[in-house]
Amino acid sequence: MQVPLLDLKAQYQSIKDECLKVTQDIYESQYFILGPYVEKLEKEIAEYCSAKYAVGVSSGTDALLLSLMAAKIGSGDRVITTPYTFFATAGAVSRVGAIPVFVDIEPDTYNISPAKIDAVIKEMPNAARKTLKAIIPVHLYGQCADMNAVTGIAKDNNLVVIEDAAQAIGSEYQKKRAGSMGDFGCFSFFPSKNLGGFGDGGIVTTNSEDQYDNLKILRVHGGHPKYYHSQIGGNFRLDALQAAIVSIKLKYLDQWTKTRQENAEKYKSLIKEAGLNHTITVPFEKENRHIYNQFIIQVAERRDELKEFLISNNVGCEIYYPVPLHLQECFADRGYSSGDFPVSEYAAEHTLALPVYPELSEEQIVYVVDQIKKFYA
Ligand SMILES: *Cc1c(COP(=O)(O)O)cnc(C)c1O
Repeated sequence: MQVPLLDLKAQYQSIKDECLKVTQDIYESQYFILGPYVEKLEKEIAEYCSAKYAVGVSSGTDALLLSLMAAKIGSGDRVITTPYTFFATAGAVSRVGAIPVFVDIEPDTYNISPAKIDAVIKEMPNAARKTLKAIIPVHLYGQCADMNAVTGIAKDNNLVVIEDAAQAIGSEYQKKRAGSMGDFGCFSFFPSKNLGGFGDGGIVTTNSEDQYDNLKILRVHGGHPKYYHSQIGGNFRLDALQAAIVSIKLKYLDQWTKTRQENAEKYKSLIKEAGLNHTITVPFEKENRHIYNQFIIQVAERRDELKEFLISNNVGCEIYYPVPLHLQECFADRGYSSGDFPVSEYAAEHTLALPVYPELSEEQIVYVVDQIKKFYA
């Protein structure tokens, strides 16, 4: 049996007619950049995320970059974030000239630890403390970070909160949606996300009318009015084609999320039935609505061998992420070393993502768990 990590072809077949029709309309109109399809999507996403506004952008990475620029974070500023995330989170901080300050994660959710944020702020020398401007919590794998604690710390210390919600569209924390709790919410429409386009795209949510206006200006090089620049922005525009496709998919997102959650439940019960629950730690759901962008298991031992075994038995799986960001070569000058963030480092060495996409069949899930059982037998 073949079980790929992700299979987008089946999903495409179910929406093909709608996609072809809308793309044809856009070809006929020859209106490709921003425009009515982007505005429509912005309204829909704002509503879906319980945020007041949304601004369509060129990618999830650019959503982060644009939010940092809108918050006027730049050279010499410091931004707290997690070392256990996709590179873009900290990459965007560095690209505006700011310094990522890493804080370790919680072992059960893999999300940034508020207690450790507190400790890091308390230990900061005064000079550094003065340059601390923001926190970027990442809602990793589809589960929200502990946002009450994060926004509380941010308020006490006058920090901007930028939610990296690239993996968490529709995820909830105490009934509040990802992207509605911070100053900015950053989403990605990269095809492998739960709501993916047919190429790159992203969106920023905000509840601030001023920032909404500001984001739209910065998205087009900061020109306001056009060709008159009081600030420097960039080309962060979303294409009409991507917006139209994402709008179509949004109608089905809740159904797809439900199926992902059901798949996660099937894995959990099969792993337990197979007696593997001492070897394998399954995802822990806090009080959140977990949308399972990834289904992550943690294995006590032989993770890399298990990965090779699964791949050789046609089960797609992947390590997200093998090198925590504080150990990346490009951040070597920050002076971090191995052992600084033990929880992130442990996760990087022991976690493995299994296929969880909505079109997965029960037989496929049974097959995956059987293969894991075979490996450890
Ligand atoms: C995917 C992702 C991004 C970047 O999104 P792109 O659209 O690929 O630029 C940022 N942060 C996290 C956590 C992601 O998973």
